[in-house]
Amino acid sequence: MKQLTLSTVLTNRVSNGAQSERKPAAPAYLDKRVTKSQRENQRTRSQRARERLRTKEHLAHLAVGLGEVELAHKIERCHSRLSVLTCGRHIARIIPNFTCEFRLCPDCGRRRSRKLQNKYLPAMSAFMLHRKVTPVHLVLTQTHKKENRKQSAERIKDAFTRLQRRGFWKQYFKGGTWSLEFTKDRNGLHHTHLHIIGFRRRFFDIELLRSEWLAVTGDSHVLNLKPIVDIAAGLREVVKYVSKPLDIRRFGADDLKEFLGLKNMRMFGTFGEFRDFCKDFEPSDNDAAAVGDLESLARDLVEGCACPQCNQPLFDLRMSGKELPQFYEQVESSPPDKVGTSWN
Ligand SMILES: [Zn+2]
Ligand SMILES: [Zn+2]
Repeated sequence: MKQLTLSTVLTNRVSNGAQSERKPAAPAYLDKRVTKSQRENQRTRSQRARERLRTKEHLAHLAVGLGEVELAHKIERCHSRLSVLTCGRHIARIIPNFTCEFRLCPDCGRRRSRKLQNKYLPAMSAFMLHRKVTPVHLVLTQTHKKENRKQSAERIKDAFTRLQRRGFWKQYFKGGTWSLEFTKDRNGLHHTHLHIIGFRRRFFDIELLRSEWLAVTGDSHVLNLKPIVDIAAGLREVVKYVSKPLDIRRFGADDLKEFLGLKNMRMFGTFGEFRDFCKDFEPSDNDAAAVGDLESLARDLVEGCACPQCNQPLFDLRMSGKELPQFYEQVESSPPDKVGTSWN
């Protein structure tokens, strides 16, 4: 994932002429956000599972406060009972009793982002091969204004639509995917970023792209561009923002209320030639094998099958969702050559 480190250079264009009156954008801000999301990647599975439980408790609590009792109940029920297929040292598959499908639910978000990866990774690999393009991760930002989440999202998406209509963009890009990242700062201002996996035809001057972005936004030139070396890691990185906003633990009742009003807003999409390509694309067995569709492999596993990692037989362990972090801890600390568990 190293190639996606965005916390490096976020060039701030030197102010000159017409731009001199604008407040200089703060690259440190974006750096901080990215560092935070990278820290998240370094957490253990037990820590992440614990975090998901806390997030869900927090969301359910907020929902009750808003009188959304049914929603709270659904969130609490989601992943509350689990059937875990394990050899004692590895977890091969987790089957929940119920999924709430609420878009802020971290458990459901994880499943959604895995689905997106399984759907788009084969298409991306094939597109790169057939169209001779290279992927880049482009982050577009905009100036902060007093507006709500929806207005902020629409403003940046509209600007991106205008960018795609420009000759420069058509000359250098053959489509890709976009996803929205929401955060909110201490002053209550929304920071909305667009994470784009763009398929580039050829190299170009980043300053040109910067001035194009300024031309369509009218006031923003802050962006970041990184080549993607490993497309699977690149896709994983951008769908992460779809599965949950990074600031969800700091959500207040107003934020949840606002989010409930966003029901139909899209957080991820394809564009340009890649979009058309996806419409007709049927992955062949080769494509699926090439990207290692773990999801569909795991779907076939049942009790008694061999663990894909160590060949020991899998057994079905029933537990509550609250016990999962502890089980992850046990799995993480078990010695690599000894099979043993106190859980069966
Ligand atoms: Zn859920
Ligand atoms: Zn195993």
